Amino acid sequence: MVSLRDVHKSFGELEVLKGVSFDVRKGEVICIIGPSGSGKSTLIRCINGLSPIQRGSIKVREQEVNDPRLDKLALRKKVGIVFQQYNLFPHKTALENVMMAPVKVLREPKAEVEIRARDLIRKVRLTGKEDVYPGQLSGGQQQRVAIARSLAMRPEIMLFDEVTAALDPETVKEVLVTIKELAADGMTCILVTHEMGFAREVADHIYFTDHGVIVEHGPPQEFFTNAKDPRTRQFLSQVL
Ligand code: ATP
Ligand code: MG
Repeated sequence: MVSLRDVHKSFGELEVLKGVSFDVRKGEVICIIGPSGSGKSTLIRCINGLSPIQRGSIKVREQEVNDPRLDKLALRKKVGIVFQQYNLFPHKTALENVMMAPVKVLREPKAEVEIRARDLIRKVRLTGKEDVYPGQLSGGQQQRVAIARSLAMRPEIMLFDEVTAALDPETVKEVLVTIKELAADGMTCILVTHEMGFAREVADHIYFTDHGVIVEHGPPQEFFTNAKDPRTRQFLSQVL
């Protein structure tokens, strides 16, 4: 589904990704963890084609993301992304936020999109909040609207970049439940997270990044109990 080979990415002189490779199969959930500044967000943005790479290859469904001939809109449609900052449109209701992209970008019929959007709002457990504006929703509820908004494009892969990092501890859980349900439904997910318990529970595979390289990876059971790299061990000793 997603395949990275020797991905290098620099911002000017600063090399942020220094040869990252991994594969994600259909229906798999992978978690990327690592210290601040290690390149996790950069990696996520590169997979979605939001940020070009200098060397290596990123393929989504066998298509090279950095191929200039690639249809960017098609890629964005296939790969949903949710950030820490949910950035909902404040003057649109929850339902309107979810409907916006399929109607405006894909030009799908409004009535059809509305049925799908209502269903997605139910799926993220926000039934009854359809006509509410983001300002009247909690952070966790807004983040779930953001997830529904992304799902409205019918992506095949979802990228989550620390989507619970800005939330109160009480609302973190409801967002994690939503992601867990999505994963259980078979959605292919790449998640950057600081929630170790969650990573352990949902991930098929965990990657630990430090200074732009993957220094350790493995299935959660092995990763959390038997990390070999000293940087991984040190990081885990601080967060667990
Ligand atoms: P965090 O856990 O704090 O979110 P991260 O692992 O997501 O960190 P990135 O945001 O990928 O880290 O940043 C990696 C490095 O790239 C940092 O040193 C950062 O300052 C730099 N960087 C990120 N985006 C840009 C940009 N647009 N221009 C220049 N430098 C950037
Ligand atoms: Mg980040």
